[in-house]
Amino acid sequence: MARERQLSRRSILGGAAATGLAGVALTGTTASAASAAREAREADVAVVGGGLAGLTAARDLVAAGRSVVVLEARDRVGGRVVNLKLANGGFTEGGGEFIGPTQDRIKALADSLGVATFATYNTGKNLLYKDGTRTPYATDGLLGSVPPIDVAGLANAAAVQALLDDMATKVPVDAPWTAAKAEEWDRQTFETWLRANAVIPSAKFLFDVACTSIFSAQPRELSLLHVLFYIAAAGNASTPGTLERLTETAAGAQENRFVGGSQQVPIKLAATLGDRVVLGAPVRSITLSGSKYLVAADGITVTARRVVVALPPPLAARITYDPLLPADRDQLSQRLPMGSIGKAIAVYDTPFWRADGLNGQVVSDTGIVRSTFDNSPPDASYGALMGFIEADEMRAFDASSVDEVKAAVLKDYALYFGDKAKSPTSFVLQRWDNEGFSRGGPVAYAPPGVLTEYGPALRRPAGGIHWAGTETSTYWNGYMDGAVRSGERVAKEVLAAL
Ligand SMILES: Cc1cc2nc3c(=O)[nH]c(=O)nc-3n(C[C@H](O)[C@H](O)[C@H](O)COP(=O)(O)OP(=O)(O)OC[C@H]3O[C@@H](n4cnc5c(N)ncnc54)[C@H](O)[C@@H]3O)c2cc1C
Repeated sequence: MARERQLSRRSILGGAAATGLAGVALTGTTASAASAAREAREADVAVVGGGLAGLTAARDLVAAGRSVVVLEARDRVGGRVVNLKLANGGFTEGGGEFIGPTQDRIKALADSLGVATFATYNTGKNLLYKDGTRTPYATDGLLGSVPPIDVAGLANAAAVQALLDDMATKVPVDAPWTAAKAEEWDRQTFETWLRANAVIPSAKFLFDVACTSIFSAQPRELSLLHVLFYIAAAGNASTPGTLERLTETAAGAQENRFVGGSQQVPIKLAATLGDRVVLGAPVRSITLSGSKYLVAADGITVTARRVVVALPPPLAARITYDPLLPADRDQLSQRLPMGSIGKAIAVYDTPFWRADGLNGQVVSDTGIVRSTFDNSPPDASYGALMGFIEADEMRAFDASSVDEVKAAVLKDYALYFGDKAKSPTSFVLQRWDNEGFSRGGPVAYAPPGVLTEYGPALRRPAGGIHWAGTETSTYWNGYMDGAVRSGERVAKEVLAAL
């Protein structure tokens, strides 16, 4: 057993070292295939999930002198943040990518690890593709990046946006279910509310695109209260959230990117934790035995006084808990589905659209890809067009072959950027719905009736089990920043309890 583990570990370290993960241990399939015996470890705290939330919690617990083991199901850290290799030797980001103003905690974490940021390419015109017409438009005018729809639609959209921002100020980010109008707002979908308020079709179109771009869910799927909470959460303790900050590139959530790719942050963070991070270790059960918890993963069991579960709620529900979790916590996690999302990245020799005066950002009412970004590297040594595939569009293609998706994506890119877009040098597709340890993204969302009925169970510990993950964050819920905030919050909670 010892020799088998040494061998599997060494072989993994070869690969891990290349990504900066040297020191991180691998167990799971390799180790369990080698022997039926499990590795056993003891720690003050077992952390389930090696995404930004779990790793941040572990960092703070270790800094406070506690022993920690992080159990991560995949053979990599980062969860919904991943760098994907390109055929030309470069890389692109398959998950969380952008950061922006008021996302202070992810920024501080990246700074502490020496991961710098650069501005998302945003020079030139945006493109509106609507009703079969392609309209490039400048974003430095009075309307900013708002697409040039008809005047009545613009007036309606401006009024609706102001109303949403105002309603959001009435939603406490730490307890949306306590808002004075929580019940009224939680018993209707965003679609119902939009139909009553965004009455001009072109205005409704703008909010539909904004909704699928932010949540990767259709307006009919979301509680209005959840949408208002999400807007309120798009800020920090001193700066109230706004819808604009969610949707914008300049001065918004898409403003900057990480040098070396976003996964540099969790990779470097995991490296500071060394072999406290165990890869290939999906946790199957959490069992209370006396005063301690047995956290059983493939190939390893950790005995710990406290457990941090840093997973999206629907995945946390796939673990077997003994004793059972309180009913309201389980009902909550039964009711928070993941959005449906994919990213399609087409790579070209050059970012040719820049020469046409375009910044690579599209808003469209058709096709599989309705929102795009220029994902080229900072030195523009090659071009990369990244397209989001979201909600209904993703679900329609979840079971399709990569070639089928590629054909549909390139058809859209050609409509938006011309025939050159039909011939990429390579193409990368990341479908989160088909990822066993995410099952969608970017975030779990609340349909009507969930926050008011079950919201209080979101962060309430169940005995010695504590909850983290971006879905538990008060600010920047759904974002990398929210994941980091949740890890910092849960570490404080656990330290106070230990
Ligand atoms: C396509 C896409 C685009 C996005 N774009 C942005 C963006 O531009 N900016 C931004 O800020 N955010 C973005 N996000 C969201 C952001 O990536 C997430 O909010 C954040 O990474 C969540 O971190 P987390 O640690 O809470 O969860 P996760 O990253 O999901 O981490 C959970 C970890 O737990 C592991 N796990 C699951 N089950 C088990 C188990 N049973 N046992 C052990 N481990 C388990 C998973 O493998 C994963 O590593 C995007 C997400 C996606 C999918």
